[in-house]
Amino acid sequence: MNEQLKLLIELQEIDTVILSIAEKIESLPGRLEQFKAPFKEAGSLLQKVKSQCEALIKNKKNKEMEADEIQEKINKLKSRTKEIKTNKEYEAYLKEIEGFEKEKFRIEDAVLSIMEDLEALTKNSQKEEVKVKKTEEEFKQQEKTVEEEKTKLHAEMETFKTKRKEFVAKIESEVYDQYMNLLKRSGGLAVVQTRNEICLGCNTNIPPQQYNDIKKNENIFNCYFCKRFLYYKEQESDKPQGPQSSIKNQQ
Ligand SMILES: [Zn+2]
Repeated sequence: MNEQLKLLIELQEIDTVILSIAEKIESLPGRLEQFKAPFKEAGSLLQKVKSQCEALIKNKKNKEMEADEIQEKINKLKSRTKEIKTNKEYEAYLKEIEGFEKEKFRIEDAVLSIMEDLEALTKNSQKEEVKVKKTEEEFKQQEKTVEEEKTKLHAEMETFKTKRKEFVAKIESEVYDQYMNLLKRSGGLAVVQTRNEICLGCNTNIPPQQYNDIKKNENIFNCYFCKRFLYYKEQESDKPQGPQSSIKNQQ
């Protein structure tokens, strides 16, 4: 085989690996994002429950203050018992106290109802807190895994890049420039096989005479359509049937 062609094939193999490693590295943040979403979601849900709790507590305090104010009014009224002279005044006085007391009971009922809601919400908030912790742990674990994988992939990448340099040094600069142009332009595939008179890079037919020349792998050929470097690799089916395979066929 042509030495330059052989080097090109090997360089393409290395670059395919390098590109696939780069792709894996690029996909890592996305994988992490999958775990970040539930964590963030749980966090905002917890925040929501917490602010609902706060609102209830504030409401409860207001109601309690209101009840206290009414109680004060009742106390004041009661302290004025001695000032009452007539029955009529006394009736009005009792009615006023009764009215305030009714109002106070109504508020105290509301406070109780708020306390029940608060209890339920607090339970809910505890549940959400557990969820936040769990999703956070899962996210942190995943973050660690991703970080380890990233380090591993970068190390692998460096190994292949070093190997790549050895090949590049042996390839003629003109051929290498052409290769690099093709690699960038043709989706990371600059060197492709041919099979059945077809370029496997772009599926275009190759003229029979050229195909015969390509099959020899003695010279560098480019696909006239996609310009990729072409080579031929013998297929299992192309090999002449040896004695072993005929035995196999007979069995
Ligand atoms: Zn082609």
